[in-house]
Amino acid sequence: MPAAFTNQRRTSSALYAKLSSAGFLIVLLALMGLELWHTYRLSAQEAQSQASALSELLSERLMSGVREGSLILGNLDDNPQVGQLLHSGTLKPDDYEKLNQALRAKLRSMDYLSRIDILDTGCQVMYSTQENTHFYQNRTDYCRWLHRNGTETDNSFVTVRHEQNGARIITAAKLVNEKGVTIGLAVGEVSPKFFRHEVGRVSVGEHGEVLVTDLRHELISRWPEFPKDSGLALPVDPQPEQIFSRDDNQLLFSAQSPVDQKERIYSLRSTANYPLQIAVGIARQDFTVSMRQKIIFYTLSWCLLALLTLTALRSHLANLAQTDLLLTSARKIKESEAQARLTLDTAPVALMLVSNLNQFILYANTPARQMLHLATHLNDDSAMDGAPLDLPLHLSPINDWLRNGEVVSDQEVEIEREDRSRLWVMVSMKSTRFSEQPATLIGLYDISERKALEQEIERKNEQLNLMAVTDPLTRLYNRRFADQSLRDEMARCERYGQPLSIAIFDVDHFKQFNDLYGHQVGDNILIALSNELIDATRSTDVCARVGGEEFLVIFPCTRLKDAHTVMERVRSKMESTVFPFAQEPVTFSGGMTDWRPGDSVATIQARADKFLYLAKVNGRNRLEIDDQSV
Ligand code: GH3
Ligand code: MG
Ligand code: MG
Repeated sequence: MPAAFTNQRRTSSALYAKLSSAGFLIVLLALMGLELWHTYRLSAQEAQSQASALSELLSERLMSGVREGSLILGNLDDNPQVGQLLHSGTLKPDDYEKLNQALRAKLRSMDYLSRIDILDTGCQVMYSTQENTHFYQNRTDYCRWLHRNGTETDNSFVTVRHEQNGARIITAAKLVNEKGVTIGLAVGEVSPKFFRHEVGRVSVGEHGEVLVTDLRHELISRWPEFPKDSGLALPVDPQPEQIFSRDDNQLLFSAQSPVDQKERIYSLRSTANYPLQIAVGIARQDFTVSMRQKIIFYTLSWCLLALLTLTALRSHLANLAQTDLLLTSARKIKESEAQARLTLDTAPVALMLVSNLNQFILYANTPARQMLHLATHLNDDSAMDGAPLDLPLHLSPINDWLRNGEVVSDQEVEIEREDRSRLWVMVSMKSTRFSEQPATLIGLYDISERKALEQEIERKNEQLNLMAVTDPLTRLYNRRFADQSLRDEMARCERYGQPLSIAIFDVDHFKQFNDLYGHQVGDNILIALSNELIDATRSTDVCARVGGEEFLVIFPCTRLKDAHTVMERVRSKMESTVFPFAQEPVTFSGGMTDWRPGDSVATIQARADKFLYLAKVNGRNRLEIDDQSV
């Protein structure tokens, strides 16, 4: 894969990861926002319906309370003292006390009314449960109502009386006699305690507000209670955009309370027939509690998810960078491997990489493949690819060295190739790693030419050495070699106490053969005698031609008697042999002696020579041996 293409893919992959992470977080944020908006809308609606329901409930309760008060007042005409009072304008003290007790007991037994007054048709107060009379300073409205007979069918009437500390609800009921004629008026004040009680019963939440006012927004009762001078109780002029709904009885709107500045949803409700207005406010604070919890929960969740996403993104980007690094390294390694292979392939030395695990050739350069005759098995591409050659190494003794883990450096060895052909090489082996496995780098340098040259020189040297110690005519050793051998053998005798014998002999009348048959025949006689000598002696014996027709035989580790037997056998063989080239038998005379402590080459030879001379003197064709030794 080209590097540029890989880079491009990786860059777009990183961009894709970043964009998808950002997209995910944004979409999540949008969904949470929508959900919160929905919750807000729902809770606002809930608050509206709650405010509306509570204001309706409260207005029902208040109206029924006021109605109850009116009924109690209307029923006072059943009381005989009331009838008597209105009929005669006065009461006996006993009756007055009875009336007083009855009405005060009535007030105590109920919550609705806080005072009761009985008025005659002229609106004159005939009786009151309270002492204060200033209460009636402003009584014209219900006196007017009392005298509007015929147009009003209702028996009761409700009005407001304004006082310094707020408005009071006053209810009045007509009192009639048995004939249905209006005889007076019962007037009562609806108890502030009743309002307080009812207002307090409304469950508007911790931060809610309940207000009861008259039609001029004068406060009658409120919850929670505030100081009297806390100003206007109710936000009366909401902005159009703050209004949710409006009908005959109710206005639903959102506003800030002028008393405590809290934002609330208000249901402002008017009551039919009564001069009462009811406002129930549900604080946003209360109905947004769940929303606030949701906001906190969503924010925390989003932050957590964002953190996780960013962590995942970071690790993904780090992975991409890591991959980038690895790819670059891999490319560099591949390049350097290719470079190394090029270097190895052009090297003048045969190089191979062999697995230590199974001794398979992992790599072989061109000289190695040629040297080991591998070239025909392989194609160059597979070798350059770095793929294992899948070829076991068969190269004695390198296989053994590999197996034993031997350290080899510049070792000269004759290897045997798979086809049994042999080759002298200089081997170096070094442990290494290749393709994640232990391997050995083997270098082979062909030294076969040098070795051949060396062997040739060695052979020539041997030849020269042989020539230097050999007599060219008879192929026996020469005097120089014989003397050296005698010296060595005598030293050995001395060291190990072994016996040593020698024989020196000379062909008899040899001059005659030369003279009679020619020099060549003389030479042939010498050759024949030498052959006979070689046949008779052991390979460890040294036979040498030490003069023209004079010979020396050294018998190491041999007693003189045994050496004499051998020489006697040769003498008799020669004596009895008839050569085609000569009429006369060829004989020789010899002297024999053995080693004695203190002998030198010269003394032992001189002693043998003395016995040779004796043999010649004693008639030739005989062997004289050293008497002292035998
Ligand atoms: P004897 O030893 O029995 O006393 O008599 P002889 O004839 O052998 O003694 P002499 O030493 O006089 O003769 C030796 C002769 O050997 C002289 C020489 O010509 C001959 N001779 C020496 N070397 C060679 C050789 O290599 N080839 C031949 N054909 N003759 C040789
Ligand atoms: Mg001689
Ligand atoms: Mg002779």
